[in-house]
Amino acid sequence: MSQEKHIEKVLFSAEVIAERVDQIGSEITSDFSGESESPVFVGVATGACLFLADLVRRIDFPISIDFIRADSYGSGTVSSGTPRISFDLKLDITNKHVILVEDIVDTGNTLNCLIEHLKLKKASSVSVCTLLDKPSRRKVHFKLVGNGKFYSGFECPDEFVVGYGMDFAEQYRNLSYVGVLKPEYYM
Ligand code: 5GP
Ligand code: MG
Ligand code: MG
Repeated sequence: MSQEKHIEKVLFSAEVIAERVDQIGSEITSDFSGESESPVFVGVATGACLFLADLVRRIDFPISIDFIRADSYGSGTVSSGTPRISFDLKLDITNKHVILVEDIVDTGNTLNCLIEHLKLKKASSVSVCTLLDKPSRRKVHFKLVGNGKFYSGFECPDEFVVGYGMDFAEQYRNLSYVGVLKPEYYM
C-alpha cells in the first residue's frame, strides 16, 4: 500500500527543497543576526511542520518556536475563505520579531487573518516565510508588520499539491517531496 503509487508527478524533490531551505535559512540568519531580541518562529499547524523543523536547524542564533492554527479548508481542496484562529500561541510576542512559517500561500486569506492577529498581540514585526507561493490565486493582499520581510521558497503552479507537510484529507504530509496526486485519489 505504498503512497508513492498515489503520486502523479513530483513538483519539488526532497533535494531541491533541502537546497532552497538552506538558502532561506542563511538569508534569515543574516537578516536577523543583528537583532538584540531573539525572534519567534511561529509555525502554522499542521502544514508547516516539516518546513519549520528543517528551517530552524539552519538558523544560527537563539530563537523560540511556537505554533498557531487557522482553519478554513475542511478536508477538501477549496478554501471556505473565512479563516479563524482555532489554536493560539503559548508565548507572549509583545515587542518580539515574529517569523510566521507557512506551507503555502494561496488566496492569502489565512495569512491575512494570522498577520492581523499577531499585530493585535503587538509583535514589533511580522515576517512571513512560506515554502510555496501561488501568486496567480491571490485574492487578499496581506501587509507585513513593521520592517517584516517576505521569504518564499518556490512559486507553485495552480495545482493542489501534497507532501512535505501538506495534506489531502490529512494524508500525505509525510512525503519528503511536494507532488500532485493522481486524480482518482482526490476523492
Ligand atoms: P489561503 O488562505 O491562502 O487560500 O490558503 C492557505 C492554506 O490552505 C495553506 O496554508 C494550506 O494549508 C492550504 N492550501 C492552499 N493551497 C494548498 C494546496 O495546493 N495543497 C494543500 N495541501 N494545501 C493547500
Ligand atoms: Mg498552511
Ligand atoms: Mg490542509
